[in-house]
Parts: sequence; C-alpha cells; structure tokens
Amino acid sequence: MSSEIFYKNISELSAMLNSGEISAVELAQVYIDRKNAVDGKVGAFISSNEDEFLASAKKSDERRAKGATLSELDGIPIGLKDLLAVRGQKLTCASKMLENYVSPYTGTAMQKLEDAGALFWGRLNMDEFAMGSSCENSALQKTRNPWDLERIPGGSSGGSAAAVSAGECPATLGSDTGGSIRQPASLCGVVGMKPTYGLVSRFGLAAFASSLDQIGPFARTVKDASLVLKHIAGYDKFDSTSVNVKIDDYPSMLSTESLKGKKAGLPKEYFASGMDSEVREIVEKAIKKVEELGAEIVEVSLPHTELAIPVYYIIATAEASSNLARYDGIRYTHRSAEAKDVLDVYFKSRAEGFGEEVKRRIILGSYVLSSGYYDAYYLRAQKVRTLIRNDFEKAFENVDFIVAPTSPTTAFKVGEKTGDPLSMYLSDIYTINVNLAGLPGISVPCGFASDGMPVGLQMIGKAFDESNLLSYAHAYESACEWSKRNPQL
Ligand code: GLN
Repeated sequence: MSSEIFYKNISELSAMLNSGEISAVELAQVYIDRKNAVDGKVGAFISSNEDEFLASAKKSDERRAKGATLSELDGIPIGLKDLLAVRGQKLTCASKMLENYVSPYTGTAMQKLEDAGALFWGRLNMDEFAMGSSCENSALQKTRNPWDLERIPGGSSGGSAAAVSAGECPATLGSDTGGSIRQPASLCGVVGMKPTYGLVSRFGLAAFASSLDQIGPFARTVKDASLVLKHIAGYDKFDSTSVNVKIDDYPSMLSTESLKGKKAGLPKEYFASGMDSEVREIVEKAIKKVEELGAEIVEVSLPHTELAIPVYYIIATAEASSNLARYDGIRYTHRSAEAKDVLDVYFKSRAEGFGEEVKRRIILGSYVLSSGYYDAYYLRAQKVRTLIRNDFEKAFENVDFIVAPTSPTTAFKVGEKTGDPLSMYLSDIYTINVNLAGLPGISVPCGFASDGMPVGLQMIGKAFDESNLLSYAHAYESACEWSKRNPQL
C-alpha cells in the first residue's frame, strides 16, 4: 500500500488531522503540490484557486484549535465537477458558452459540504454540459486516464474521477445522468456512486436532463463515498423533485458481513453480448467473490434493457433541448461579436458557444418534441421508461440488489470513438437504465485487465436503500485488494 499522503483516504486523513500529525493548511499544500506535479499530464482541473483553498484550510485549523466538535470532513479537500455552483467560483460546464461565467450562489449539496468544513479544491473537467462518455467533448481541455495517459478517463465526470485516481484530491463530486459517475469511476479505478433520484438536491447543478440528473461522490473507498453522501443528501425545498426521506448515518452502518444471506440478481440480458471478453471474465470473478462472501446469486431478467439507450437518447435530448434554451447570448452567456441584430445574437451566440455534440442533442431533442413527432417518439419513450422501471421492480421482488458490469470495456484510446457517436453512446449500456428507473448504483474497482486498466463492478440497489447498497459494496471491497492499487504518474 502506498504511503504517500495524497493517496490516503478520508478516514486516514481525518485521523491525521485529529491527532495533529498534519494541519489542514499542510494537507492543502500536499494537494496543491500534487496537482502542480501531475495535472500537466492528467488535465483534470479546469481551474483552481490556491489562495482561497489555503484560506479555507486556515479556517479549519482555527476551528480545530478552538476544540470545536468537527465533522470528519472538516479540513478535507473536495473537488467539484465544473457544473456545480459555488458562489464566486467559475462554472463553465466545460463550454465556450459559459467560459467566463461566475456563479452568483452556492448550490445545496455544496453548501452542505461547506457547512461540514470541507474545503473546495478546484473545478474539474467534464464533457460539455455533461454530454459524453470520455471527457473529449470538453470545449476547454483534454483529460487523460491516470493509468495510461493515451487513454480517456471516461465521462462525463472524467475530471472528477481522474483527480481522485491521480491523488490530486481525496474525494470529488460529479453528476450522473446516464452513467457519468459510475463509468468514469470504473475506468479510473475509483469508487463512484449515483444516489437514488431525489436523494441529493439538484439545486446548483447545471441541468442537462432534469428527470435523470443526480449529484454523487467519487472517492478512494466505499466508506469515504458514504461519508460524503451522508453530508450532501437530504430534502431541499429549492428542488421540487427532492424527496423527504430519513438520511441514515451511512458510514456507521457499513458491515463486512452484509452480503451474508442476501440475494444478488444477475441480469441475464447484461451478459448476452457486446462486452469485452476480458472485462466479462473479471466481472464474473468479482460476482463469484460476492457469492463467496455469503450472497446467493440469482438470475433475473430485465427484458427491456436493449431499449434503454434509444429511450435515454429521446428523453435526455428532449429535456436538454429545453434546459439549454436559457443559454441565449442575451443574459449571462457567450455573446457573438459578429451579431448584427437581435436574431443574429441568438443564432450566432449559440452557433459559436455550443460544441458539436451539444448541438446534435439540441436538434435531436427539438425534433422528438416537435408536434408531428411528439407522440411517435417522446411519448412512446416515456411509456417504455415505465416498462424499464417495472422490470427493476419485478426483479427486486426476488433479490436484494443487482450485480452487473459498469462498463462494457476498459478505458479506450483518446480519439478512438470521437468519430462515431453511436459507439460512444454504447459505453453506458449498463448504467443508463438505472437512471431511467431512478435507482441508486455504485461502481467499485474489481480487477485489472491485461493492459493494466481498471475494471469496475456495478451494484444496483432498491430506491432509497443506500445504506444497504453501500454496505454490500463495502463488504466486497474489504475482501479485495483492488482499491489499494494506485497509478504510477
Ligand atoms: N454518456 C451519457 C451521455 O452522453 C451519460 C452522460 C451523463 O451521465 N451525464 O449522455
């Protein structure tokens, strides 16, 4: 196991802060130095402010010096995907449209982290407006996979995954609309969790597809992810889809015995085809391990799985076309210098401000919502979404959770799929239906392929059953050594 401080997990760092072995300012400096040493290669950060970071660390040290009772997150640096609002910080969505935008308010999840004493450390790269699976749709920069700099980190929260993997931050937040937390977590060899829809407020998350988006954590361990989740979850009156459920103290409920006597569903459709054979072998071994740890593996069927991608690309693009209408060149976004009249302001600003994938989705979304096609596409897609949700409900009558791959392949080479959007869309084949059903899902490292790239195991839970889901993932993780490996940078 690595002894470098920047590869330590939050529990270890928090103990060091409590014992006085390190101060929050010294710890912040460790991550500043690490970022300066490796981010030229990794490219996870779009922006960062060392002075603000150190100033907030100093305040944490002052709180500690006063002997106040502090949360485990006090003094812990947390990075943010660049679509999460913090007052006074830039928020670009990795788009030219918002390149110079500064957020006037702090979103709820971020406010909760700040209240817990966490320190914001940097704004992390992503696919533009969270549309993509490789981070290559960022209009601002490229992010590389810390395990192999020729490869992509996954997406859309690629910067959030790469920053944790490279030891530039012990935990980060991302957002997951169709897999954007779990897929990059899998490809970068870290833990990534998408909570149940409605558990974490979306207030202060720049919207892509509002009925699917959720904020969630990336971390080095399941315990750390559960700690961050505990702090960001909870009802919020500023998000009308926020659900008022009791938030458990997830970290204290983790048990290495939790898989004993449980039933794990194995969706037969997931193993049908399309998966890289080595990834399949590694995931099957991981599922064997889940069985050895006491779970009974039961085959389940999710018969509408093959419709998940087409349904997602109707619903997500429809919602995106509406959500992105606000970026019009009139108010706070990029405004074309070439515009001659008011219509020109709209057309040219949007033409210049949005990248190719974003435009493709706005056009697709407007098309499926247009009066002649609404019934044929959008309405039908909503009906199939219900069938997908019913599939899960039926499966969960017999099992406690579902085990599955996270991604059909390991991280691919930079540029390999940029010319073929459809093959890029298939990266999310095992994650997308979880968003359509609104369920929680987590990806934990479960092995390495012969090319040295990490593979993730996905566990999918019942709605609002986060405490059990995290506990199953923790039991698996504790029985393996995968999470202890780090990339050589
Ligand atoms: N890769 C999917 C997409 O491109 C999912 C993105 C996400 O979860 N934000 O839409």
